[in-house]
Amino acid sequence: MNLIIGGGVGEHGRNCFFVETKKENFLFDCGIMPGVSTPFPRLNGVQIQSAKWLFISHSHIDHTGAYDWLCEQGFDGCVVMTKETSRQVLFSPKNVRLINELIPALKEYFLSEDLIVTWGKSGQCAGSVWYKICVDDKSILFSGDYIEDTLVYRCDYIRNANADIAVLDSAYGKIIHSPTEYRKVLVNTVKDCIERNKIVLFPVPKYGRGFELLALFHKSFPHVPVKLDAHLHGELTRVKKYEEWIKPDFITSIKEINFSDSDESGIIFTSDPQLNTAKGHKIAEEIIIRNGAIILTGHEDIGSYSEALRLSGRAVSLRYSVHMNDSERSNLERANSFKDVISYHH
Ligand SMILES: [Zn+2]
Repeated sequence: MNLIIGGGVGEHGRNCFFVETKKENFLFDCGIMPGVSTPFPRLNGVQIQSAKWLFISHSHIDHTGAYDWLCEQGFDGCVVMTKETSRQVLFSPKNVRLINELIPALKEYFLSEDLIVTWGKSGQCAGSVWYKICVDDKSILFSGDYIEDTLVYRCDYIRNANADIAVLDSAYGKIIHSPTEYRKVLVNTVKDCIERNKIVLFPVPKYGRGFELLALFHKSFPHVPVKLDAHLHGELTRVKKYEEWIKPDFITSIKEINFSDSDESGIIFTSDPQLNTAKGHKIAEEIIIRNGAIILTGHEDIGSYSEALRLSGRAVSLRYSVHMNDSERSNLERANSFKDVISYHH
C-alpha cells in the first residue's frame, strides 16, 4: 500500500490522498485551495484514471471542490459518501454509493471482493465521516475533519483501531488551546458586545460550525435574539430529517431559541464564511456602519473579503474548534494502534 499526497499536508486546503495497492487504487477527498493560481490536487492523469473509488469525508470545498477537475482528468470511479453529504455537494456523480445506507457506522463492509470499508461520524458537520479501508492485507485510516468535543454534531470516537497508515486531522498544529478555552473567549467577547448593545455578525460555513456557535450562545445567552439567514434557517427547520448526525440536546433546544428578523440587535449568522458575495459585503458593511462586531471563527481564504476585514481591523478572528491540534492528535494515536501517521490540514 502506497500513499501519495495530492494536497493538504503543509497547507490548509486541497485535501486529497491517492492510495495505490496491488488490488484497487482509491482516493480520499478531492479538495481545492481557494485563492491560489493552481488550486487543484497535485496528482497526474494516470493516477487519477486508475482510482476505482473516491471516498468523500464531507461536503466542504477543501475536500470536494476539485471533483469536476478530477472528472476532466479522467476519473471514472465510484464516489462513496453519506446521503447527507450527497445532498450538500454541488455535483451529482453518475456512480455513487451512499455508505450509511449500505452499512451502519463502525461495521465492516465489503465494498468489492478486495476492499473492506468501515466508517464513523467525525463531528465536523451533518454527514461528515472518517473511513478505514482494508485491502491487500493492509489498512489505512483517514480521519477526515475530526473533532470529538462538540455541542451539536455526533462523533463516533476512533478507538482501539489498527491501521498501517493513519492520515489524521491536525489543523491546529502546535496551538495548545482546548475547545473549551476557545468557547470561553467567544462567550466573553459576545457578552461584552451584548452589554454594550452591539450587534454581532458571525459569517459561518453553510454546514457545520454555525450550529455549534448557535448552541453555545443559546446556552450562554438564552434570551438574546438570534437571526439566521434563509439557508441556515432552512437547515435548522429540516433538522429532524438528518437527526442521526445531531445530538438530541440541540434538537430539543431549537424551540427555545429566541429567533428574530431584526438587524438592529442580537447575534446574526450569515452562511458566507469568506463574505465574498455581494450579499456578504452588504451585510458586513451594514454591521460596520452600525458599529457592530464581525467575528470570524474559521480559516480565511487568501484574498477573501473576510481576510481583508480582519487585516484592516474591521473584523476579529476568534477560533471555534472544529479540528484537532497536535496534542489531541497524539492522544488519538495513543488510543489506537497506527504504524505510520501523516498529519494533515495544516
Ligand atoms: Zn477541511
